[in-house]
Amino acid sequence: MTYINISIFTTQHAHTRNNRLARDVMLTNSIWRPITFQLDEMKQLPFIFYDREISYTLPFAQQPKVHTMLQSCLELAPNSEIYVCYVGGNYFIEPHVIGCAYSQRYYDTWKGFIILTNAAASYANMYTFPHEIGHILLTRNENTRLTNADPDCPLGSPHHPDPFNLMHGIVPGPYHTRSKFPLLTSNQLQVALNSPLLRK
Ligand SMILES: [Zn+2]
Repeated sequence: MTYINISIFTTQHAHTRNNRLARDVMLTNSIWRPITFQLDEMKQLPFIFYDREISYTLPFAQQPKVHTMLQSCLELAPNSEIYVCYVGGNYFIEPHVIGCAYSQRYYDTWKGFIILTNAAASYANMYTFPHEIGHILLTRNENTRLTNADPDCPLGSPHHPDPFNLMHGIVPGPYHTRSKFPLLTSNQLQVALNSPLLRK
């Protein structure tokens, strides 16, 4: 079995109704099969984030509250490879952004961090969580630097050109998928399966 340890953190005002957290993990397991996502820790954190408070273009190290939150995740669940934080509000500062993924160096490897707003809770946006997980799984070392370029994008974009692909910049929704075709290409799955974050 190929698995990865993830921890889930909720903050105040983050919506968790309708089994959102379980849905996100189950959906991600089914899309990224055969990779299994094992829940390591699940905790509520004493942080409050409001709408349009977090920027995804400004480094998190320059946003003290976000930085403190991510470092507490690391301390609370040192055995996880991916940390998912659910925050309040619907958007980041940047228009339309409802989730982001970020890899931080950690000794000779790295850890993945994902932040999701309440807008990612809706049915239409349910592929946001597996999409952000994809950015972490597709991160790899290339010539001593980390890249999360999509393996099908020779120009180095982290997003796939096919609007029906999970890794498209505008994440497809359940109304916008080709049921007979997988959401991922075999290239993407292959790169993910080679991620050093995976355990066997
Ligand atoms: Zn993306």
